[in-house]
Amino acid sequence: MRRKLVAGNWKMHGSLAENEALLSGILAGMGGVKADVAVCVPFPYLAQVQAKLTGSAIRWGAQNMSQQARGAYTGEVSAAMLKDFACTYVLVGHSERRAIYGESDELVAEKFAAAQAAGMTPILCVGETLREREGCITEAVVSRQMDAVIAKCGVAALARAVVAYEPVWAIGTGVTASPDQAQAVHAYIRAKVRELDAAVADGLIIQYGGSMKANNAVELLGQPDIDGGLIGGAALNAEEFLAICRAG
Ligand code: PEP
Repeated sequence: MRRKLVAGNWKMHGSLAENEALLSGILAGMGGVKADVAVCVPFPYLAQVQAKLTGSAIRWGAQNMSQQARGAYTGEVSAAMLKDFACTYVLVGHSERRAIYGESDELVAEKFAAAQAAGMTPILCVGETLREREGCITEAVVSRQMDAVIAKCGVAALARAVVAYEPVWAIGTGVTASPDQAQAVHAYIRAKVRELDAAVADGLIIQYGGSMKANNAVELLGQPDIDGGLIGGAALNAEEFLAICRAG
């Protein structure tokens, strides 16, 4: 039986004061939450979040990392640095990283490998643009994004990872994939992995991300292959985030 995982992606939001209020609100409302819960926060706040959440049921992580271990890479942050702040998770291949910063499937696979080598659980984000969906190549795009990681790390590596299916057209737009649309892609991803390893497929947590809110979470999380959510905007409001966590 897979446990649901609801993870907040704060993106480039927050301040010391805002984070303190948000985390206090979430911690206060965790009673009755059965899902696993995590927050992926901007690098400068990892120490604050670690101090606030250590000993709680909530885990934390980062939103990106370097594929390099160390060296002259100005502005980059390594996996080992994230481990210093006890990160459990790190997002790799978020569509904003792919689209705005030009991250390729191969680079994302390198980051995935480096995260696992450091003992973290990568949350591998995959998903198609609107143009790709309209061109009926959603499965081909998601397949290509998954294949890059499987080629580099092997299918067994997915046993120590999370996949987040995030249709790009649904991220931050207020347009959510319908439960049927999302379920179809989740089932496709699981079936693809099952062709290589049934046990890995059965255990794989596949989150949905893209304008998930309190008012659509129950239906989305009720789908058989949707194992949680990666939450952007709604993760910045404690009540809204908790409502999604309770739906899981
Ligand atoms: C995200 O950034 O991963 C995301 C899903 O954002 P939003 O929930 O705001 O669409």
